[in-house]
Amino acid sequence: MKDYLVKATAANAQVRAFSATTRQMAETARKNHDTSPVVTAALGRLLTAGAMMGSMLKGEADLLTLQITCDGPIGGMTVTADGRGRVKGYAKNPQVILPASSQGKLDVGGAVGSGILRVIQDCGLKDPYVGQTALQTGEIAEDLTYYFATSEQVPSSVGLGVLMERDNTVRQAGGFLVQLLPFAEEETISRLEQNLQKIRSVTSMLDDGITPEGLLELVLEGMDMQITDTMDVEFACSCSKERVEKALISIGREEIDKMIADGEPIEVKCQFCSRGYRFTVQELTDILEKARKQ
Ligand SMILES: [Zn+2]
Repeated sequence: MKDYLVKATAANAQVRAFSATTRQMAETARKNHDTSPVVTAALGRLLTAGAMMGSMLKGEADLLTLQITCDGPIGGMTVTADGRGRVKGYAKNPQVILPASSQGKLDVGGAVGSGILRVIQDCGLKDPYVGQTALQTGEIAEDLTYYFATSEQVPSSVGLGVLMERDNTVRQAGGFLVQLLPFAEEETISRLEQNLQKIRSVTSMLDDGITPEGLLELVLEGMDMQITDTMDVEFACSCSKERVEKALISIGREEIDKMIADGEPIEVKCQFCSRGYRFTVQELTDILEKARKQ
């Protein structure tokens, strides 16, 4: 199944919902950053959440960043999404190895530990909107549910999952996000709660061939669900040699001087996608020259 996301409303717009299948996105992140299984799962979940939350952005240039700062061995994660399904992200320590949890699952909560979740919405204004809450379990979905309830006062339910193959590539990844709008009636709330109690994990549903549309039909069963939009989602980074050059200049002339003195070409990696950019000594000298003129 190709990666994509659907948006829906239900119960006369008392509910809005999102669902996505993101296997390729999670697998691209795994390959780019050479992540261990537990990090693949953690990052895959956060990327999926980023895709869904990003799709709520209105402006062309708007960006949403999900940032986890934590004390677990993963050290932190950052995911940035635009409103058109392009998502990128990385974990600070991509090769964390942890024993499985007591239920035999990848211990994402153990890898993340406790810390803070920041949601940064950059909509081109002078100051971006920043909401932040304490991590609840480090399992990502619960942390986002808590974030929506406390920081945005929107009762929500979030499901996220990444399932691995035996060879540690990604077999399934995806998620859903359901939100109650302020005028939701008691009947709608209790129906949604009943439905949520019945459903299985996101990855087991996807693994049975259930599509994002089908997934929302289950979550919003009996609530007159209507799909309002469908969009492709992908792991995509907008880095370029030019941008990396700017980042190089920002680290300072002294540092560049040292690199030139070493007399060896250097490789600078993009943090978000791990793509490497090579700079020869001559190029470094030119960059320094340009920086002097600025
Ligand atoms: Zn990049």
